[in-house]
Amino acid sequence: MIVMKFGGTSVQDEAAIGRVIAIVRERLRERPLVVVSALARVTRLLCDLADEARDQHEEVVRDLLSQLRERHYDLSRKLLGGSPELLQACLEDVEKHLKALQTFVGGVCLIGELSPRSEARIISTGEILSSTIISHAFNASGISCHWVDARRMITTDDNYLSARPLMDVTRANVKRIIGLESRGTDLTVTQGFVASTEAGATSVLGFEGSDYSAAIFGMALGAERVEIWTDVDGMRTADPRVVQSTGKIDVISYEEAAEMAAMGARVLHPLTIEPARSRNIPIRVLNSMNPSCEGTLIIRGDESPDGPKSVAFRDGILFVKVSSAKLEGVTDMFGKVFAELYPRRIPVMLAKATESEVYLVIPEDVPCLEEAVTRLRSWAEVTLFRDKAILSVIGRNIVGFEGLGDKVISLSGKVYLANVSANMMSENFVIDSDRLSGTLSGIHGYIFGKEDA
Ligand code: ASP
Ligand code: MG
Repeated sequence: MIVMKFGGTSVQDEAAIGRVIAIVRERLRERPLVVVSALARVTRLLCDLADEARDQHEEVVRDLLSQLRERHYDLSRKLLGGSPELLQACLEDVEKHLKALQTFVGGVCLIGELSPRSEARIISTGEILSSTIISHAFNASGISCHWVDARRMITTDDNYLSARPLMDVTRANVKRIIGLESRGTDLTVTQGFVASTEAGATSVLGFEGSDYSAAIFGMALGAERVEIWTDVDGMRTADPRVVQSTGKIDVISYEEAAEMAAMGARVLHPLTIEPARSRNIPIRVLNSMNPSCEGTLIIRGDESPDGPKSVAFRDGILFVKVSSAKLEGVTDMFGKVFAELYPRRIPVMLAKATESEVYLVIPEDVPCLEEAVTRLRSWAEVTLFRDKAILSVIGRNIVGFEGLGDKVISLSGKVYLANVSANMMSENFVIDSDRLSGTLSGIHGYIFGKEDA
């Protein structure tokens, strides 16, 4: 079996779904499990819907619900206009899900309260609707298709909005349900992102979580391959919105791909790699607008080439220097600083210490940070440097790549902190935000030999 996941832009309209059907048709022999996202922008609309219901804005709620209905009705009519019976069956299913949503949202509106559990229930509807329509569209095109509710398969903890799967239960569910129910059909369609808790309440795997779903299904089925279909030709050597002349990464290891996601490259949900790596299932990142492109293959490190793969960045970073007048020692410095950060769950991205100083790299918009800083100021001097960014060069054995540090300093003017990650997969530099885009292009050119014009 293989798992094929299609993201929101790959299923956004009639033309896109037509391409999906053509792509899947080519692979029927490999018995695909097709995992779909909500139509592009629908999850965002549902988040707004949840907020407006909490704020008891009944009129806006009504308007958003009718936008949602219109979009899915319109798409169903376009895809199934040629077969009135299938269209009717599809619209009945769509209406059933919309009615259930409407009733639920009505309840939220009435009480004016939105729990994470209720929010998960609301925002899961996008995938339920898209998968329903796509499954009917497969049937209409002569591919027999069975729709499965992912909530019956992926069982999670109670962290409703970024739920984590309970892998053993999930594996058993997936094997049982797909094994029994996919017999006699060409393929099975299910939802990404959507799951349920052990008690049976809807949960979701966090934004962009459909990639993660696909990897979980792949792991549970021992799939031959997981395909992630997007709208770019695979993973890039840099973000094409910042660097002009990026190249495609042909082959990359699980560890490097995970490091890219962790360091801000927005290709895959950061947790996607682990389930695939655990069972050594190759992931291919492909482009539904250009299906003949081979995309990027993510495999084991010993089967993929060494050397730099990509430059990534995170903007909106705060650099913090904590200095003590005394020589406290590294252990005490870290201990005293983290005693304030840890209880407040302040997400430190990088940290370094000397006997009397600690340097921290933290996202700028973290709650409770000021409180922690005030406490630290009772015994240390704390300096905040705002408007920083982290530039990361990712690749196995990146330390062997000469001249990187010098080049970053000369391009950015100043490096506040340089650090090689503990797994040696990335070299990271904290620099001024306003020098980020130039430095990124320059470093990309230096490494990959494609200087931006
Ligand atoms: N629809 C969800 C989102 O927009 C999950 C996904 O598409 O991966 O975040
Ligand atoms: Mg995505």
